[in-house]
Amino acid sequence: NPRNALNFSGGPGALPETVLQQLSEALIREPVTGLSVLGISHRSKWFAEVVDELEANILGLLGIQRGYQVLFLQGGATQQFSMIPMTLLRGVSAPAEYLQTGYWSQKAIPEARREGPVRVLWNGQPEQYQRLPQAYELASAPDAPYLHYASNETVEGMQFQYVPGLDSVPRICDMSSDFLSRPCPAERYALIYAHAQKNIGPAGVTVVLLRDEIIERVPDNLPGFLDYRAQANARSNFNTPPVFAIYTMLLVTRWLKQDIGSLSAMDQINQQKAQRVYAQLDASNGFYRGRARREDRSLMNVSFNLATPELEQQFLRSAEAAGLSGLGGHRSVGGLRASLYNAVTLAAVDTLVSFMADFAHQHR
Ligand code: PMP
Repeated sequence: NPRNALNFSGGPGALPETVLQQLSEALIREPVTGLSVLGISHRSKWFAEVVDELEANILGLLGIQRGYQVLFLQGGATQQFSMIPMTLLRGVSAPAEYLQTGYWSQKAIPEARREGPVRVLWNGQPEQYQRLPQAYELASAPDAPYLHYASNETVEGMQFQYVPGLDSVPRICDMSSDFLSRPCPAERYALIYAHAQKNIGPAGVTVVLLRDEIIERVPDNLPGFLDYRAQANARSNFNTPPVFAIYTMLLVTRWLKQDIGSLSAMDQINQQKAQRVYAQLDASNGFYRGRARREDRSLMNVSFNLATPELEQQFLRSAEAAGLSGLGGHRSVGGLRASLYNAVTLAAVDTLVSFMADFAHQHR
């Protein structure tokens, strides 16, 4: 049976309907070239202009005037776990600082240890990753080569509401699951990275926004593919890039600028969406149990549990039958998770919330 499901997946996630419509046409004939977007050369003038406009859109949305470049790389966020310490930690004696606040920030740490010394500045694992550190709990060293953290823990559903670390230490952030979902003081970061497949496109491309001075510090002996300077010099065209994924990101940034208006406007919508789902959790008298401490709740990923795994399975089956897809928690923690990325509409959230109210009513 043909279905029309709503996508609450943790990623790859929902994309804006208008972007999907433009893509479906561009698959056959992209309007400027008259060619299928899947068959346009990465060496074409058209593609160079796509990269230029996309970079300008990202810098514009973030309000950055100068001093940064935007790269579009392959290898996912996972490759950045390695490229960052390869660039900034080889041969360095002071330890890089890492915040271990959940599943994804924890994954970055062993990759950094291969390259040099690491100090875990804060570890939330003993508390089962149910809260983020408060600023006063972070004793950063002024001589650390950099501080790395994840702004949004996709699995546990926790999001930083402040910028941790010292402004004098290069700050590096994995924003894979909340990039371009809210305004961000990008100029306080040395490097921000985010794979596309949550808020900004399909899998296959990762945005790296970095200060010019990081590019200047790249060691000489890295493989070209893993060298930010080589990638920057090639304008993200070092080898055949994922043209389709990059073009999709361009359409998403146009949608943010033209249809939504700004990152503040996007944030307002995202706040309303999350508020409605959390209000449903909080009004359920413990039927739905939010995973994260209230102050650290993510606007992007609402992770929660029911009384038993059996009831959670029943929830997932009923949701699937009602056309609500992707609500299972990450395989590492189980439970349930509603992901509310930019393209998830308020109307979709209202459908989810009324489903949750009905389910609680029937199974209480
Ligand atoms: N960081 C975060 C915050 C993530 O959510 C994920 C994946 N969901 C990753 C890193 C890993 O990304 P990738 O699969 O693109 O390497």
